[in-house]
Amino acid sequence: MDAQLGRRSLLKSLGGAGLLASGALSPLARAMMGAPAQAPGPWVRGFGALQPFSVSPDRIIAMNVCTRPFRAEGPRIALETLAGKPVVHNYGHGGSGWSLSWGSAAEALALVPQAPPGALAVVGCGAIGLTTALLAQRQGFAVTIYAKERPPYVRSSYATGVWSPDSRIATAEHGPAFAAQWLRMARASHRRFQTLLGLPGHPIEYTTMFEMAETPFSEVGAHGSRDEPAYPHYSRDLAPELSPAPLALAEGHPFPAPYVRERRLMLFNISAYSRLLLEDFERRGGRIVTAELSGPEDFARMDEPTVVNCTGYGARTLLGDESLTPVRGQTAKLMPEPGLNYGLRSREAKVSVYPRRDGLLVQTAGENDFGDGSEALRPEESFGAVERLSSLVSALHG
Ligand SMILES: Cc1cc2nc3c(=O)[nH]c(=O)nc-3n(C[C@H](O)[C@H](O)[C@H](O)COP(=O)(O)OP(=O)(O)OC[C@H]3O[C@@H](n4cnc5c(N)ncnc54)[C@H](O)[C@@H]3O)c2cc1C
Repeated sequence: MDAQLGRRSLLKSLGGAGLLASGALSPLARAMMGAPAQAPGPWVRGFGALQPFSVSPDRIIAMNVCTRPFRAEGPRIALETLAGKPVVHNYGHGGSGWSLSWGSAAEALALVPQAPPGALAVVGCGAIGLTTALLAQRQGFAVTIYAKERPPYVRSSYATGVWSPDSRIATAEHGPAFAAQWLRMARASHRRFQTLLGLPGHPIEYTTMFEMAETPFSEVGAHGSRDEPAYPHYSRDLAPELSPAPLALAEGHPFPAPYVRERRLMLFNISAYSRLLLEDFERRGGRIVTAELSGPEDFARMDEPTVVNCTGYGARTLLGDESLTPVRGQTAKLMPEPGLNYGLRSREAKVSVYPRRDGLLVQTAGENDFGDGSEALRPEESFGAVERLSSLVSALHG
């Protein structure tokens, strides 16, 4: 049988039998029509088919704890002289360190009292240290990073990895004082991230999140932990153009919740992205030295005339800086699901899943995360989150 003719007569007979609309096609009929062999899952108007994916505790490949280095006043970006040496601090970025990193690096480097070329030390090799070191290289400095750990074993490596520039970055009380600097940082970072899209390995990409709730979404989301202070809504109030507004889905969507909205979100594939940053730094002649500083006097022992201190939560011990409040966060990674192009979040189930390429990132909020600096794993927390997610995914895909 001629393939075109065969396809046409097949379509005609299927149409006549009312089978095209019902989707009740045999694998042979689907193949002849060029349709995928398997039903693609439920559809969302304007988005397409939602690829089913597997969620179960036995697919967990890692669990990690990360401490957000929160400061009520916002990050400490300031020049100080310690044991006779100029030290520029760049730490305390709460839940926004990856997002604000490039802008924060620019703010910190503007305080370096020495013009390039010349040698510069950066202490710390997380999101903040790496971006500060790279930007300093671009400005013409010869940079050495000193750090106790480097990716993939820094706290930054255990973050969720999304554009969240105003997540626990300051309290509402201190919000106005930090607003102008936040805006500069957010804009500069966002601009930089746009230059990292479409690269091999997808270090940065956009994805779609579907957020579910049992009652209407309030204007802004709340953090899950008890005792949390109020936070400023910088993204909403100062830079809505950097975080696309969510779209409410009309009735008829396939999600197991009455209220659902869809949001485009910038995603950081932290494995590929931190590797890219490390490789860029080393290609430009940067050196990384494994070292642990035990007190402020250690800054003065370094050969470089200026140091930028990017030690994150480590600054609490290193400098005795009690303004750093730990906010605990535990995540679990499920086996990667190639091709998955959306994530889910349920307000009531207190669970989110992000389709990162290096594994599906499952996040939940503990009741007492704020002020909790414990880095001991609580496996039951992640198992519970994965079970709740599994119920949602089963309800979605059957
Ligand atoms: C669960 C969770 C999810 C998050 N999700 C996101 C997100 O989606 N998007 C986002 O933007 N942010 C997110 N964050 C926040 C983000 O992870 C942090 O703001 C960021 O990691 C801080 O980076 P950092 O470089 O300052 O610190 P770190 O990654 O902790 O790096 C500090 C560096 O300093 C070194 N160091 C520390 N002390 C010493 C010392 N005494 N001597 C030598 N070296 C030292 C360390 O070894 C390390 O190299 C999340 C945080 C958590 C907990």
